[in-house]
Amino acid sequence: MPSNVLIDVQKLEKKYGDNEVLKEIDGTVAAGQVICVIGPSGSGKSTFLRCLNLLEQPTSGQVLFEGKDTQTLNETELTTMRERMGMVFQNFNLFPNMTVLENLKLAPIRVKHMSDAEAGEKALNLLKRVGLGEKTDVYPASLSGGQQQRVAIARALAMDPEVLLFDEPTSALDPEMVGEVLAVMKELAEEGMTMVVVTHEMGFAREVADQVWFMADGYILEKNEPNELFNHPQNERTQDFISKII
Ligand code: ADP
Ligand code: MG
Repeated sequence: MPSNVLIDVQKLEKKYGDNEVLKEIDGTVAAGQVICVIGPSGSGKSTFLRCLNLLEQPTSGQVLFEGKDTQTLNETELTTMRERMGMVFQNFNLFPNMTVLENLKLAPIRVKHMSDAEAGEKALNLLKRVGLGEKTDVYPASLSGGQQQRVAIARALAMDPEVLLFDEPTSALDPEMVGEVLAVMKELAEEGMTMVVVTHEMGFAREVADQVWFMADGYILEKNEPNELFNHPQNERTQDFISKII
């Protein structure tokens, strides 16, 4: 195994009651890699992502982050691990009662004990980076969905994460706003950010992913480089899924 593995998933299983949602999931994410996870609705993609940072407790198996079994972390280590795995959700999850700048400053001040001035400067730089340097003092509700999602990405970056996990970041957006969010994500990928992206944007997966993982019924049925996976899917389920979406 390469030494730069950040996330190592071994025989991960998750059950909700009798419902086995994740079955024998194995996979590694190396530093700088972009993994796109695709597959039909209900196949376990969100659950998989949430098991990576223990928003969901796996039923069995292991998730190693930077070589450490996440199940063995104490409270402090768990908090640190979650800081290092930033997450971006479908519905942005911004704090509605705070300005854009306050949204970005909150965690660095509270969790990292950054000074207000330092957090503010960092927040402004990140907002400029996602093209929203003029929106510091507005509230999320006054922004478009695409702008809100770019704020959410900037907020995740404010904690200097090692990895970013995205759960269908463009699925809640009007079609004309999808591009601006994907452009920010593509730029991050080019800058070397490690990312695991659950997405239905096959163009993005094709262009940006180092590997695409196809999930169905709780299994990762196929993993490959995007060109191989999209042009020569091996598994029948992958073939079927791809023929329907492309
Ligand atoms: P996807 O993101 O691929 O659409 P999910 O991971 O959301 O799939 O869901 C996979 C399966 O797990 C579904 O059958 C869903 O109903 C079930 N599931 C997800 N979260 C929960 C939960 N908190 N409690 C019970 N069942 C859940
Ligand atoms: Mg989902």
